[in-house]
Amino acid sequence: PFIYGTDRINSLGIELGCRASRETIHKQLNNSASVAYKAAPILDTTIADSTPVSVISPIDAKTIVGEVSNSTVQDVRAAVEVARKGFTGWSKTPVAKRADILKAASELMEERRACFFHLLQTEAGKTIDDAISEVREAVDFLRYYATQACELQGVPTLLPSPTGESNRLLIRPRGTFVAISPWNFPLAILIGQIAAALVTGNAVIAKPAEQTPLIAAEAVKLLHEAGVPVSALQLVTGDGAIGAALVAQPGIDGVVFTGSVEAARKINQSLAEKDGPIVPVIAETGGLNAMIVDATALPEQVCDDVISSAFRSAGQRCSALRILCLQEDIADKVLDLIIGAAKQLTVGDPRDFATDIGPIIDEEAKTRIEAYLAHDTAGSKLVYAGEAPKQGTYIAPHIIELKRVRDLKQEIFGPVLHVVRFKNDRLKDVINDIAQSGYGLTLGIHSRIDGFAEHISKQLAVGNIYINRNIIGAVVGTQPFGGSGLSGTGPKAGGPHYLSRFTIEQTITINT
Ligand code: GLU
Repeated sequence: PFIYGTDRINSLGIELGCRASRETIHKQLNNSASVAYKAAPILDTTIADSTPVSVISPIDAKTIVGEVSNSTVQDVRAAVEVARKGFTGWSKTPVAKRADILKAASELMEERRACFFHLLQTEAGKTIDDAISEVREAVDFLRYYATQACELQGVPTLLPSPTGESNRLLIRPRGTFVAISPWNFPLAILIGQIAAALVTGNAVIAKPAEQTPLIAAEAVKLLHEAGVPVSALQLVTGDGAIGAALVAQPGIDGVVFTGSVEAARKINQSLAEKDGPIVPVIAETGGLNAMIVDATALPEQVCDDVISSAFRSAGQRCSALRILCLQEDIADKVLDLIIGAAKQLTVGDPRDFATDIGPIIDEEAKTRIEAYLAHDTAGSKLVYAGEAPKQGTYIAPHIIELKRVRDLKQEIFGPVLHVVRFKNDRLKDVINDIAQSGYGLTLGIHSRIDGFAEHISKQLAVGNIYINRNIIGAVVGTQPFGGSGLSGTGPKAGGPHYLSRFTIEQTITINT
């Protein structure tokens, strides 16, 4: 039988067990489809009732995935109060026990993967490949942070101590964390944020994107089932206004956020204006990600890597390739190959195994991309536009040639690839334009010349540099992910320094 699944084993040596036949996956997905999914705030207190509304799939307006009741500002206040009390007990739970609970959650998630595949496809519009990778990433986060927390907080660090004195360094949780997660990785990023905050001993209030509350509710319920007390992990549902109300509450000790630069700035501002302690934010935002290809690169490999980097997940990844810089001797050949490959891509219902590109998340996002495509950027030339279903929020792959890297002024969160040609003596302008964009998330380099990649890497403060491969799909523990500048504050998710930012340090000196 056809074996479906990824052949890459993750950084922890975990194979997710997705090596099932098409038939098995179809059957599991159908079973999960018959469940009535509901998301409502999960709070350890009585809440104001709100009328549930349907969650409509981005696949088509007829597909109702479930229903959601949204939180009120009253809920938000209650949640913070509960979390502060919940923190007292949860922070005293030994780290080994907290880690065991996360590991138990990872087992449950593997068992229930079909439910998450189904929701990722219907609520977030993911292809089966993307759904499989996302569940695997969520499982990775749970196990990786569980292991990391035991190393970080297991035993206090003994510090040099002169005679008559003992010095120790303790790593303590901060308190109550707000975790605001995006719709483009509604499971993996949500779980990553929550797991990091929880395992280090913080109480968490999760506020997922309003487009994907059902996945979030299932994930939070699963963590409760694994042993996290409700007072240590609550769910608040709603749009940006609810997120803003949550951030503005007194009693928050930290915010972890993934989303737009604008929203990150607003969070920062809101936290700065509050009285009381200085509250840190960990933000992961966007990118104007480039790939630089010199004349020695392998055209077929470049083509493959460009197609997946620019168009997989309909370009709705912050790591996605936005601007391809081709050295002019190789440009025509590579561009021909890319256009040829783009023609083979199928845009449509992600539940079909043959689909490569699913829908844009909603009408608003689609309109934004279309408005950009309709607008003539100075000197731009449309070199390819594919075909997409007319009904629904689908957008076909587009390729646009620009004169200079700096002509691309904004992150277009969709399947739109820009191409710039450069002469060897203008490489410095390419590098300079990339640096001047202010973003620094991912960068691709294709070359067979030793030292070329190093020469470029040294000049750009980009978080994740990928050489002779695609630039998406960072693996937990192997490719810690995150950028700097307009791309975020760091630390890198899935990396060895992430958990520290959810903690405070305490030095204890005893006169013996
Ligand atoms: N970690 C993802 C990747 O490497 C991107 C995350 C995002 O889009 O926010 O592709």
